[in-house]
Amino acid sequence: MVRYQKIGKSFGDVEILKDMDFNIYPSEKVAIIGPSGSGKTTLIRMLMTLERPSAGTIEVDGELLWHKKINGKLVSADEKHLHRVRGKIGMVFQQYNLFPHMTVLRNCIEAPIHVLGITKEEAIERAKTMLDKVGLIHKLDAYPSQLSGGQQQRVAIARALVMRPKIMLFDEVTSALDPEMVGEVLAVIKEIAAEGEMAMILVTHEMDFARDVADRVLFMDGGKIVEEGAPSELFGNPQNPRTKAFLSRFH
Ligand code: ATP
Repeated sequence: MVRYQKIGKSFGDVEILKDMDFNIYPSEKVAIIGPSGSGKTTLIRMLMTLERPSAGTIEVDGELLWHKKINGKLVSADEKHLHRVRGKIGMVFQQYNLFPHMTVLRNCIEAPIHVLGITKEEAIERAKTMLDKVGLIHKLDAYPSQLSGGQQQRVAIARALVMRPKIMLFDEVTSALDPEMVGEVLAVIKEIAAEGEMAMILVTHEMDFARDVADRVLFMDGGKIVEEGAPSELFGNPQNPRTKAFLSRFH
């Protein structure tokens, strides 16, 4: 579903990601853990086309994201191509990024109408289904400021789902929440994960959550994947000393 090949990323002289290869298979749920600054966010922002890789290629659902092949040669993709491939990907951020001046329902229907070109009626139908899924069907007409942080984050999840992405990216979606709201957001994500079809990449500091939801966990440190494995292996019997040191902080 997603293939990173020899991906590198530098900001100025500072190399953040180094020669990174990894694949995500259709419907696979992958958690990425690791210390602050290890490059987790940068890695997934490149999939959303929010950061451009300095080296290497990324493939999404069989298509190159940042490049096009013309007469066998790789060239930089144009905006139209980026936009189209990026349409297969949904992202939920740490900050919910809802439009403050729009109701919950409008927040959820703007992109499908303007980006996917579906009718308003269909967008409303889809939005209602997704808001029901995240337990907020009774808040259609509320404004973001009238909702708790946990509710706003659940709206952000519904808004991303309305686009019917093939892959969902969750970037530390509970980090900005008060502790008592973390559970409700994680429960919604678990439920969506259990439905199966969509691939998911979850950058998280919630180790129990990663253990519950992920099929595979990647531990990143210093811009590299240091260790990866099934949650039972990586959490139960980490091999690399850096993984062990990192995980010992959560006991
Ligand atoms: P955290 O868990 O704290 O979110 P992370 O593992 O997600 O960390 P990134 O946010 O990917 O790490 O950042 C990796 C490194 O890249 C950090 O040192 C950060 O300061 C640097 N960095 C990220 N974005 C930029 C940018 N636009 N310009 C310069 N440096 C950047």
